Amino acid sequence: MRVHLINPSDAAFGTAVITPRWLFVLAAATPQEFGNPILCDETLEALDVGEVAAGDIVGIGIHTGNAFRGYAIGNLLKKRGAFVVFGGIHTTLYPEEAFERGAADCVIRGDGDIAWGQALRDHARGAAQRVYEGGRVDASEMKIARWDLLDSSKYMWASVQTVRGCPKHCSFCSVWRTDGQRPRQRASDPVIEEIVELRRRGFRFIALADDNFYPVSLTDIRLAERQNNQAKVATLKALRAERFELMERLAELPRGMVFFTQITMEAAEDPEFLEAMRKARIMGALVGIEAVTAEGLKAVFKDFNLSGEKLVERLRRFQEHGVHVLGSFIFGLPTDRPDTFEATHELAQRSGIAFAQFVMLTPFCGTVDFERWEKSLGDHPPEVDGIPITRYWLIPAEKRPKMFMPHPMMSSDEMRARTQGVWDRFYSFSAIWKRSACTPTLRARLAFVFISKLYRQMYASTGIATDSARRERAVLWARRIAKLTRQLFQARPMPDLQVPRARTSNSSDPLRVLG
Ligand code: SF4
Repeated sequence: MRVHLINPSDAAFGTAVITPRWLFVLAAATPQEFGNPILCDETLEALDVGEVAAGDIVGIGIHTGNAFRGYAIGNLLKKRGAFVVFGGIHTTLYPEEAFERGAADCVIRGDGDIAWGQALRDHARGAAQRVYEGGRVDASEMKIARWDLLDSSKYMWASVQTVRGCPKHCSFCSVWRTDGQRPRQRASDPVIEEIVELRRRGFRFIALADDNFYPVSLTDIRLAERQNNQAKVATLKALRAERFELMERLAELPRGMVFFTQITMEAAEDPEFLEAMRKARIMGALVGIEAVTAEGLKAVFKDFNLSGEKLVERLRRFQEHGVHVLGSFIFGLPTDRPDTFEATHELAQRSGIAFAQFVMLTPFCGTVDFERWEKSLGDHPPEVDGIPITRYWLIPAEKRPKMFMPHPMMSSDEMRARTQGVWDRFYSFSAIWKRSACTPTLRARLAFVFISKLYRQMYASTGIATDSARRERAVLWARRIAKLTRQLFQARPMPDLQVPRARTSNSSDPLRVLG
């Protein structure tokens, strides 16, 4: 009896940008008596079903985007006699679907760090439960990923998580509802241990795959102080101090290591935090800008962001501290007008951000937007082959309409064409070359150009295009560019690298708040 963990995907690029962390975390959560699990990441190569034998146990992790493929795999492997377990965000939201569509024997809702091992042991003694409630495990119980099972020749960047959960509540995002609003921050020891292990294996670029690397803002602390809530003030300050401690330890890692994370724009108002990021070599951050107008931000419950000139100024502040921004913008907000597209492109160019993504407002499962949209369609939503469009992920890809939120003024086609236009202009060769001047060496400049083109191919052409020929061409190009780009990110392995020891006295002042 062998254990398999499968990350489903319709498109295989041969090389992937970031390691799918959950595979390696669940590998660590697999009890020793089951041996080393066999990992399959379909973003690299499609699953070879012949690898799975009767009696094997298969764990399939799905989000809404790959649920259809995940269910197909579940059915295929069930027919081969495997015991099929589903998990992941989509399973947490729609556990029954995995039984009805994916031939699941059991499902795990929430975090798998503990529940996965329990499900395996229960199954082995013939007592598997139907549904496991994995819940939200405490940071101290999060597993250290099994990077020894990673084929490092296939990925450009590795991923390490330092915090789960986000205190915000954006209407288009499901993170705060699935991972919770209380930040669960890992201690620096296991984080550093994982990073060192990855550097030993030749990874120089590491994504800190966090929901929000800046879970406590200065405003949060000031508000708690104003409310005279001493317990909250102490908790927030302790979380903040832990962030600084982690960044100080990152700064001690070998030169040449580079980190990338995801952060809210409020960090730009915290020069001390930005300075710590610079020292830690956190040189890139995905910042959810979403909209360039105040009305647009209000529409997505993100009014803690800034708009207009103040927005440009904040984004430049990241740059001034050596943090290159990947700005994320959303098109299709009810307040958007045809001229919003050009205004957004113009702001993106002017603000000095290094990369950008332009996504169309989509009703993603588990979000407030999705619930509103589902409700607006009433009890009898339109159907495709008998499947209501409110369950669009169950419609085969070739028939699945693109599910963009309806807009009061513009059709989905018009918005898609305008969005594609912005991607094309932002990622024209001359624009990329100009932006690449922010890098220090020719090699880095080349990496910047390749990663820009790859990003454009992987996300714009495969995500927005409705025409399958265009999508297939994009995948082909992405495969070629990915191969070349990976070489630029490779570093010589450092098998003897030691984990730097934690400082005995915490040099981060837990009371450090106002700089
Ligand atoms: S979009 Fe970002 S800031 Fe908003 S809830 Fe999600 S993770 Fe938090």
